[in-house]
Amino acid sequence: MLPDAPSNLATKAGHQTAENIVQLPLWRASPVLLLSTPLHLFCLALVLLVPSLWRWALSAVIANHVLILASVILSPRGRLLGPNMTRLPLAAAQRGEVALTFDDGPDPLVTPQVLDLLDRYGAKASFFCIGNKVLAYPELTREIIRRGHSVENHTNSHPHAFALFGPAAMRREIDSAQTAICETTGIAPSFFRAPMGFRNPLLAPVVARTGMHYISWTRRGYDTVAKSAEQVLQRLQRGLAAGDILLLHDGRSIRTRNDSPLILEVLPRLLEHLSTLDLKPVALQTAGHVGKF
Ligand SMILES: [Zn+2]
Repeated sequence: MLPDAPSNLATKAGHQTAENIVQLPLWRASPVLLLSTPLHLFCLALVLLVPSLWRWALSAVIANHVLILASVILSPRGRLLGPNMTRLPLAAAQRGEVALTFDDGPDPLVTPQVLDLLDRYGAKASFFCIGNKVLAYPELTREIIRRGHSVENHTNSHPHAFALFGPAAMRREIDSAQTAICETTGIAPSFFRAPMGFRNPLLAPVVARTGMHYISWTRRGYDTVAKSAEQVLQRLQRGLAAGDILLLHDGRSIRTRNDSPLILEVLPRLLEHLSTLDLKPVALQTAGHVGKF
């Protein structure tokens, strides 16, 4: 059953401003689900009525599952699996805003240095935190909020098999993280991002129930696997424009040859570049009215 109201977690929204009150996205079945359900029913009926056509029916079902798999693996920025925010609203782009998003933290070594760098450039960002780490580092999580950034939901334990989960297991991961963040900061996240951006067709209704918006990115630097800061910067800066959402990591950061986290080499150069382009890094919740995403 799909409740049409947000879970009460989303209504614990602490000191969100009126401008940022979450408006519920109306849930619609994802295009993949809309195609798959009738196709499966049709194939079942076909086999019952004309058993000799079972090979055709089976081929159609297999092709359907290949399409779903391709959507999961190849298209983290696509909309075949449901609503997916990949850019800021037009109004934010017109104001020259971009969103810096940091995944997989908070991290006791890296996050404080990221916060200092952001302060130095007067930049705001959104941190997609893992619930378990929020509970492990509650003061650091509150510090993110105190510095004017937002904390968003990136599951409770960052399971790599998240895209294989059913609705109940996905709900547990998302709700536990939402509870951890709400109880730690007093503010309910408005955005959810799946681990590595991998989803399945059953995720959209689970996210809609929480009142959050699903978000991916415009461009990502692959900073957890890159060999150098140059590589990451090249990926992020090629075609960079107002309204872009950039994906970086303050958790699981790869180390440079000097054993310093790569993100700390990337970030000042990226912030410098944004300043040269006259682009303003903002937290997602201030980029515009959430309901208009
Ligand atoms: Zn992640």
